[in-house]
Amino acid sequence: MKSVRGVVVGAGVVGLSTAVCIAENLPLCSVTLLSEKFSPDTTSDGAAGIVLAAEFPDILLERQRRWFKDSFDNLLAIAQSQHSPDAGVILSSGWQIFKEVPTNRKPFWSDFVTGFRTMTDGELKRFPDHKFGQAFTTVKCECSTYLPWLEERFRKAGGQVEQRKVNSLQELSDSFDFIVNCSGLGSKQLVGDASVYPVRGQVLKVDAPWLTHFIRDGDGKTYIYPGIHSVTIGGTRQEGDWRLHVDKGDTDGILDRCSRLEPSLKKANVLSEWVGLRPSRRNPRVEREWLQLQGRMVPVVHNYGHGGWGVTIAWGTALDALELVRQCLKEMPQQAKL
Ligand code: FAD
Repeated sequence: MKSVRGVVVGAGVVGLSTAVCIAENLPLCSVTLLSEKFSPDTTSDGAAGIVLAAEFPDILLERQRRWFKDSFDNLLAIAQSQHSPDAGVILSSGWQIFKEVPTNRKPFWSDFVTGFRTMTDGELKRFPDHKFGQAFTTVKCECSTYLPWLEERFRKAGGQVEQRKVNSLQELSDSFDFIVNCSGLGSKQLVGDASVYPVRGQVLKVDAPWLTHFIRDGDGKTYIYPGIHSVTIGGTRQEGDWRLHVDKGDTDGILDRCSRLEPSLKKANVLSEWVGLRPSRRNPRVEREWLQLQGRMVPVVHNYGHGGWGVTIAWGTALDALELVRQCLKEMPQQAKL
């Protein structure tokens, strides 16, 4: 008999990772994943899915390093296992290049990816507009495959899945003992967080099976990421832009910028175009609070606002969210047996 009922709101990469972590590690809890949209209709589904990150300004670097390492190690293990094709997680080697030498030549995650090094002058020759570059092997996580794989894993761990929009956390307080909020951009309405905003991103999928290495401009706006079935090329970073339709001007700009980095892309057929809104915030919110809902105090753990790095740090922040749920449960005396 399960003694505690928990709900995770949101079925993007953050919600699914969190739901799996809780269901697999707290077997005495019954966990429901409740979401308005599921794969293939979430923002996470269209993410380029390459694992690297920028630094968030106000979160201890040690914590960010842990998020990155926990996530990277988890995805690396999948990429190196028999589950790689079913999960859509693969190794990816390539170059991050910069027009100006960055002040920090070694990002905080450089020790965790494989074989991180500065590019040689010879390697940089093919990028005449760029002065500096880093070569490394990381992981590419294709969420349109990874999310259904995680959902299956969640169900195997006893989790239940329900599709509906939650209009207010009050709706959940009768049915659940704790709530985990992984609603991404939806947190703007669901928990009234005015500091969450969209950063629009447009990407194309092209057919170019001859490309095997990723190329990313360090400004984050131009990238070429070979995947399992196609190559994702991008992109845009338009702050505060809520438009979800494909912009022809953006498509032309992406093709032009990417072909300058990789001229053979002129030969590639465009397979699809896609737009997503990164759920951005100055820092992700991974914390807990007790809220008075329908007259009783209910623990709520928040895990949202990952911006352009949700695929990269989802597993790490999910482990933090699990720990926060554990702390909440310890504060409920009758649940001490957990
Ligand atoms: P989402 O995927 O948006 O999921 C939110 C979930 O909450 C959805 O299921 C939604 O239906 C649900 N929800 C919201 N409100 C409610 C409600 N009221 N009731 C019920 N359900 C609700 N990240 C990387 O790490 N690497 C990359 O290479 C990368 N490339 C990207 C490229 C592009 C073009 C874009 C747009 C993003 C990219 N990202 C990348 C960022 C990444 O996609 C996001 O950080 C990540 O998807 C956020 O995941 P999430 O689960 O928080 O949000």
